[in-house]
Amino acid sequence: MQLPGGTNLIRIDNKVALITGAAAGIGAAIAEHFSEAGAAVVVFDINGEGARRMEEKLRQSGRALAVIGDVSCEEDVKAAIEQTIREFRTLDILINNAGIEVAGPMIEMTSSDWDHQLNVNLKSVFLLAKYAIPHLRGHGGAIVNISSVHAFVSYEGNAAYDASKAGMLGLTRALALEHGRDGIRVNAICPGYIDTPMMDEWLRTQPDAAATLRQVLGVHPLGRIGTPRDVADAALFLASDAASFISGTFLVVDGAMTVAGH
Ligand code: NAP
Repeated sequence: MQLPGGTNLIRIDNKVALITGAAAGIGAAIAEHFSEAGAAVVVFDINGEGARRMEEKLRQSGRALAVIGDVSCEEDVKAAIEQTIREFRTLDILINNAGIEVAGPMIEMTSSDWDHQLNVNLKSVFLLAKYAIPHLRGHGGAIVNISSVHAFVSYEGNAAYDASKAGMLGLTRALALEHGRDGIRVNAICPGYIDTPMMDEWLRTQPDAAATLRQVLGVHPLGRIGTPRDVADAALFLASDAASFISGTFLVVDGAMTVAGH
């Protein structure tokens, strides 16, 4: 959503945005896009080196802070919110993006695999919301949860991931309901196939990665897979005042893959 010359059409000047998993992939694209659109960005990631690299990059033209921690750990989340408030005095936007994919047949999963998947992808949204909401209320705060098309379509070997992503939509609705009166909007994005390190990792597990990639391209009516920037554009819209009457819902960003029945 850029005007010729690179100016962002949607602006979030002087807003403070905390983005989880912002050292790589979709989160990194959101961090860069939000920074270009005028926000101060908190890069909260378990990958310390990546987070510090992103902080350095964003500081070349804006305000940024790297916070290293695990989104499924309550102490780390509490500390991340406290550091954000210490540095920027406020918080306007929370993007729950950090996620992992623990794949494999469900009955072969251990209960600790299950807990790890659900803790990183879903419990984290509860924790981040719990500690962020006191700072988001009263001044038009926004939360955007990065779910997946896996919230409503299933692929074999993804039971725990599917459950975590469907759970994110339930939590999105519940938070929108409970905190609408605080002026907080809560929405989700359901991306399809997006070209990120997570997708590269998944391709590496396939017996014939090139054939799988051809098959993936073939199920997209738009003829391509998504870019992290495609998701960042949707996140910027939902986080901004351009979406001021949109709450409790989700936006599918999948190049029409799921309406084509895939
Ligand atoms: P990615 O490339 O793997 O990047 C995720 C980032 O989050 C990494 O920097 C990772 O650090 C960090 N992270 C992982 N666990 C964390 C934790 N416990 N606490 C804090 N940070 C953590 O992933 P992505 O593809 O950009 O995906 C981002 C989100 O979009 C995920 O929620 C994913 O489920 C969702 N999504 C992705 C796709 C897709 O096709 N890529 C499609 C639909 C939805 P490390 O690298 O050190 O683990």
